[in-house]
Amino acid sequence: MIAVIKQGVTDNQIENLIAWLETQKVHVHISKGEYNTVLGLVGDTTNVDMELLQNLEIVENVMRISEPFKNANRKFHPDNTIVDVSGVKIGDGHFAVIAGPCSVESHDQILEVAGAVKQSGATLLRGGAFKPRTSPYDFQGLQADGLELLKEAKKVTGMPIVTEIMNANHLPLFEDVDLIQVGARNMQNFELLKELGRTKKPILLKRGLANTLKELLMSAEYIMAGGNEQIILCERGVRTFETYTRNTLDLSAVPMLKELSHLPVVVDPSHASGISRLVKPMALAAAAAGADGLMIEVHNNPAKALCDGAQSLTPAQFDDVMRGVTRVREALEL
Ligand code: PEP
Ligand code: MN
Repeated sequence: MIAVIKQGVTDNQIENLIAWLETQKVHVHISKGEYNTVLGLVGDTTNVDMELLQNLEIVENVMRISEPFKNANRKFHPDNTIVDVSGVKIGDGHFAVIAGPCSVESHDQILEVAGAVKQSGATLLRGGAFKPRTSPYDFQGLQADGLELLKEAKKVTGMPIVTEIMNANHLPLFEDVDLIQVGARNMQNFELLKELGRTKKPILLKRGLANTLKELLMSAEYIMAGGNEQIILCERGVRTFETYTRNTLDLSAVPMLKELSHLPVVVDPSHASGISRLVKPMALAAAAAGADGLMIEVHNNPAKALCDGAQSLTPAQFDDVMRGVTRVREALEL
């Protein structure tokens, strides 16, 4: 349920209303927009007398929210959320590009790629340290050593770092990670999501391989219910009957998610297509669709990559994509 407060109402009056609502065992989320303040009521709202609330002098309108996601819902928070990743903003016109290798492989590899993507305009550095591989015999990532190398690249380049967590027990290792990624395979690892809800770290939440947008938003809700509202949603393609591409990029997810939610939405054209030559057209299309950012895999030698070489761009190809994305955004005045 939401209650839209009339303009000109004092903070004191709003606080009194919140205190009264909280006696009815609901949690009240407050969103102060440019024009209106919206109170979002989360929890069991059956005891709240909607008519009484509607008739209060300071209340403009009361509505029930039919969607099961509340905190993530745009009705709760009409303005776009801006997520601040150690000084790099994403959302509400702030466009961020996350680039780097699928996996951190060595000191020289991550430093070389980091320097190159920064030069081309990437704002955040990615690199997998704990890798979710389909086969247990494939390279599993450098794990804690990989995190150390990422931190070194951050020190040298100044770029905030993004890397995937697979196990909540690893959280102490992620203290210096700026944006924690939840991979597609863990989108519905609810215990992990609950733990991340208790942290203060921004979270990059990737859509599961076969999950609906509602399920993605419900996973965001798990994190937000714990008090962490710094979430970036990521469309990375879903599994369909198509086999020429690794996944099928669902670009309609971008405007749909932005309509349903206030959270920023980024697109990963690398995992979505699995083919390096498709990354540029998909990145341009994502920018045109209104994405708040991109996540692109870049390797200094894709042919020798230990993971996802076929979809990785060379630094020169990435530079070309960045130029194209800038032109698209300028043309559309985004
Ligand atoms: C990744 O970004 O490295 C990754 C494994 O992606 P996804 O979880 O989308 O497959
Ligand atoms: Mn990858």
